[in-house]
Amino acid sequence: MPRVPALRNRLKDTPVTGSKRVLLAAPRGYCAGVDRAVIAVEKALERFGAPVYVRKQIVHNIHVVSTLEKKGAIFVDDVEEVPTGSHIVFSAHGVSPAVVKGAADRELDAIDATCPLVTKVHREAVRFAKQDFEILLIGHHGHEEVEGTMGHAPERTTLVGSPADVANIVVQNPDHVVWLSQTTLSVDETMETVRLLRERFPNLQDPPSDDICYATTNRQVAIRKVAAEADLVIVVGSSNSSNTMRLVDVALEYGAKAAYRVDYASEIQQEWLDGVTTVGVTSGASVPEVLVQEVLDDLADAGYGDVSQVVTAEEDLMFSLPKELRKDADGNADERGLGGRVRQLDWQKNR
Ligand code: SF4
Repeated sequence: MPRVPALRNRLKDTPVTGSKRVLLAAPRGYCAGVDRAVIAVEKALERFGAPVYVRKQIVHNIHVVSTLEKKGAIFVDDVEEVPTGSHIVFSAHGVSPAVVKGAADRELDAIDATCPLVTKVHREAVRFAKQDFEILLIGHHGHEEVEGTMGHAPERTTLVGSPADVANIVVQNPDHVVWLSQTTLSVDETMETVRLLRERFPNLQDPPSDDICYATTNRQVAIRKVAAEADLVIVVGSSNSSNTMRLVDVALEYGAKAAYRVDYASEIQQEWLDGVTTVGVTSGASVPEVLVQEVLDDLADAGYGDVSQVVTAEEDLMFSLPKELRKDADGNADERGLGGRVRQLDWQKNR
């Protein structure tokens, strides 16, 4: 990802009582599913040439999307917008079977970049629907991942948008219900929703394993620790990124006096830093590290050059690329057959 031209020396180094410092949460930024999806679009462009169509934003980050657009990706909302016979990539958030069929009907060459952890939830939905369970899917109305998961068992799934929704849920057989969830929710809020669901439906079945993914959980655990010591938390990420928005919520819940989301360092406001000694910094799972580095550079201009990482987990998960992209045009295995170009970069190496 190219660096963003920054307006340097924009923030002033104003005096505060105490020493200024930054606590940098780790893990942060790209997860394995996002890394894989972004590489999939890049490789599709290399392999098939521009344009390559992508249904919806490949990942929810404005910088990633605009960078791929410059390389020749065209983002569309619907397969109907794609010329017959073109290549199309399905985003990391997953699609419903109806979308897959729509692409096939238009004779599109589809490359499925759905995160394998989202695919796992799709499979659970199909399996529980076959067993005649009613599925209570905890997630956000209108989120692409939720639409894709519901599309795998549309007749049997009810969306639970928040704890407040629980009282109004209607099911046919209260003794045969199971909960599933979107992968990028607040862990605490989801568990509260499950608790309320179980109060209403004592025989509520749990999924085989928690659907909230490792990356969401790890980033929330890291920011909890940082937030407890921070006057201000800056979360890098886009407003349509569910896991990014949850990091802002979690930071406030766990002790940060203020927390703001920014897409770019240039959005940091001078007044946010008034009287602040400790700034916490993190980023959502769809955010390239270069954007965090820009934030650290601007904070250094404002006197926050003392940066310590707060590490709560190590991540080394990698996913295979979509099968259509594992070999090059000559049939040779591609070296980037695994995702994982960027995991937890050492930020100091890149400054
Ligand atoms: S946030 Fe989790 S579910 Fe979403 S792409 Fe990343 S690893 Fe996959």
